Order: sequence, then C-alpha cells, then structure tokens
Amino acid sequence: MVRSAPDRYQEIRDAVRALCAQFPDSYHREIDAQRGYPEAFVDALTSAGWLAALIPQEYGGSGLGLAEASVVMEEINRSGGNAGACHGQMYNMGTLLRHGSDAQKQLYLPKIASGEWRLQSMGVTEPTSGTDTTKIRTTAVKRGDRYVVNGQKVWISRVQHSDWMILLARTTPLAEVTKKTEGMSIFMVDLRQAEKSGMTVRPIANMVNHETNELFFENLEIPAENLIGQEGRGFKYILDGLNAERTLIAAECIGDGWWFIDRVTKYASERVVFGRPIGQNQGVQFPIAESYIEVAAANLMRFRACELFDAHQPCGAEANMAKYLAAKASWEAANACIQFHGGFGFADEYDVERKFRETRLYQVAPISTNLILSYVAEHVLGLPRSF
Ligand SMILES: Cc1cc2nc3c(=O)[nH]c(=O)nc-3n(C[C@H](O)[C@H](O)[C@H](O)COP(=O)(O)OP(=O)(O)OC[C@H]3O[C@@H](n4cnc5c(N)ncnc54)[C@H](O)[C@@H]3O)c2cc1C
Repeated sequence: MVRSAPDRYQEIRDAVRALCAQFPDSYHREIDAQRGYPEAFVDALTSAGWLAALIPQEYGGSGLGLAEASVVMEEINRSGGNAGACHGQMYNMGTLLRHGSDAQKQLYLPKIASGEWRLQSMGVTEPTSGTDTTKIRTTAVKRGDRYVVNGQKVWISRVQHSDWMILLARTTPLAEVTKKTEGMSIFMVDLRQAEKSGMTVRPIANMVNHETNELFFENLEIPAENLIGQEGRGFKYILDGLNAERTLIAAECIGDGWWFIDRVTKYASERVVFGRPIGQNQGVQFPIAESYIEVAAANLMRFRACELFDAHQPCGAEANMAKYLAAKASWEAANACIQFHGGFGFADEYDVERKFRETRLYQVAPISTNLILSYVAEHVLGLPRSF
C-alpha cells in the first residue's frame, strides 16, 4: 500500500481495514454489476458500530469526533468499497442531535445507533429549484395535529434502504417571508408508512450504482410531532449539518485517491512495454506523483476541518475547501489510474472503471464544485454576492 503520512488514528484504520478485507473487490464488483445494495457490508459496518461513530454514548453510539468518523469513511473507500451506500446513516442524524427535542432524541437515536432504524435519506433537491434551495416548491401545510405534504423531490438517495428520511418542505410561502431562507421546515418521514399513503418512489437509473430516486408527494400526512426544531427554521438546520457532511465526503474522496494511487503505482511498476516497466517513464510517473501530492494536501485540509469542527470552532471555509481539494484530487488520481492501465482500465475486473465512475460524482453531489467556489468567494473573500 502506498505510504500515507502516519497519524494517530491507526487503531481505527486497522479495525476498519480488517472488516473491509472481508469484502474483497469481487464483492463490490458483483453488487455493482447487479445494481444491488451492499447489504452484508453495510450490516457488518453497522454491527461493528462504525456508522454510529458520531452518536453520543448516552444514545448508544460511540461518541467519537469527526476526525475519527472521517477515518472510517476514508478506509471504506480506500478498501475498494463505496461509503456512498451508507454515509447518510453516519451524518443525517446530526440534524436530530442538534435540533431535535429530548423526546425525539430518545426515540430515534438509540435505534439509529443500533441499526434497527436506518436514517439514510435526506430529501432536499427538487427538479425545478436545483441548487437554489430556497425556491423549493414542496409544501407542508399544518392541519390539526398533522402536516399535509405535496410536491416533488429528485435524486433522493437510499430511500429503498432507509426507514426514515429527513424532508425539507416550505411551511410558509416564499412570498410571505421576509428572508427567502425562512419559512422552510424539516420533518422525520416514516418511509414505509409514507409509501402506503401519499408518497411514490421512482428509482433513477444512473451512472454509478447509487440507489437514488424521484419522490412524488400527494397529500402525504406527517404527524405534527415529526417536525424537528421550530417551524420555519429548517433551511438553517440543514446548513448546520453541511460542514460535517462535506468533511466526511472529503475523507471518502481521499480514500478513493489513495486507492487509485495504490493501484496505478503497482500496475505501472509491473506492466512491461518496450522492454521496461511503464512506470520508468517520467511521462507516466509525473501525473501519479502529482496526484499523490494533491491527495496528501487535501488530506491536511480535511484534518484541519475536523480539528476545528471537533473543537466547536467555525469551519465552513475549511470544510468546503477540504471537499473541493479532495474531490479534485481523487478525480485527477482516477484519471491517472485509468490512463496508465491502458485498455485494462476499462475492464470491469480491474475495478478501476467502477471507482472512476464513483469518484466523479463528488464534483457534483452533494454540492457542486462551483457552489464551493462561490462560497469561498463570498464568505471568505468578501466578494459581492452573486445570487
Ligand atoms: C447520485 C446523486 C445522489 C444525490 N443524492 C441526493 C440526496 O440524497 N438528497 C438530495 O437532496 N439531493 C441529492 N442529490 C442532488 C445533488 O445535491 C444535486 O444534483 C446537486 O446539488 C446539484 O444540483 P442540480 O442537479 O439541481 O444542478 P443545478 O442546480 O441545476 O446546477 C447545474 C450546474 O450548474 C452549476 N451552477 C448552478 N448555479 C450556478 C451558479 N450560480 N454559479 C455557478 N455555477 C452554477 C452547478 O454547479 C452545476 O454544475 C444527488 C445527486 C446525485 C447525482
């Protein structure tokens, strides 16, 4: 394995690596070919407690910091797996933890920690509003002790492998709020119940083996007690969760980056063309070395974001920059890896094309690279607001 700087998380790395080693490349390859869900892998991670890393011990989790949690995600991707199948279980509950009532935390968190309930889905994106979240059209109207939901979502992941979803909907029309970020609320949606009474799920076939869906709501009723926090504050609550999400995704990209560099380094050392290993040519060496440098640099920013987050310091800039650098670095490493595998990079059995597809997603979701640049321009550099 290519050397990455030693850190103080070696014990966690070794434990997650040992678990992941039980699920070899062939396991992930077959699931990908079948467009299946890595149920056994996710179950093993859940039983070992890794997906409950961020849940406090009083609710049955392990109460670890973001740094440790990010190492778990990194190691999953570094092993050849894809944490995208289950990362929602690790961070979606943060919204409940920060903004839920005591009763909600007592009800949901222990069951999420044990894996009895999966909270892997978060329904924000809509077809017409896209990244402009304040323009969402899904509404939740209070009627007595219930909210009635109508509207549509798109690209909502892991709905078929979750028990619960956090849903963002407008509770006050845009025209009636003073700030466009107000008037949206978040709810816990019981997915199996919802499928029987007002929610239709339409899977979206896509480039990666990522279970994601269109959702249609027609008079879906949600009990009023499923509202998280105060009505109208939902957008802020979603934003509060983004730093952890971005940092964890950055760690997944770093895991991918190391995986690509491991594979291409080994291949370039062994593959002989023109009577010598291709890795002897500097035209082959340099893009690999460059990728290594970029992944290592992104890794530093990821740990800086973790350090600030775990110290309860503002870390918006660092979390966004870590996600930007890591997604870019893993994509460059993916390109070098597929390029120097020649034709074999396209063969399923080398797993390069699968990981190549998987890591590409992170330039677009859960936040596109342009939106990170816009965040840094506006919030870090103080440039005029563009939207
Ligand atoms: C596989 C997958 C899984 C997903 N899972 C979820 C999920 O579980 N829950 C959920 O809510 N969403 C999910 N998403 C949605 C994802 O968050 C969005 O696709 C993403 O935020 C981009 O939104 P959009 O697709 O509407 O693109 P758009 O907003 O239409 O943007 C299209 C492009 O234009 C660029 N752009 C837009 N506005 C500007 C601007 N002002 N300046 C510069 N560039 C701009 C964007 O950067 C982007 O590249 C998922 C998406 C995918 C592909």
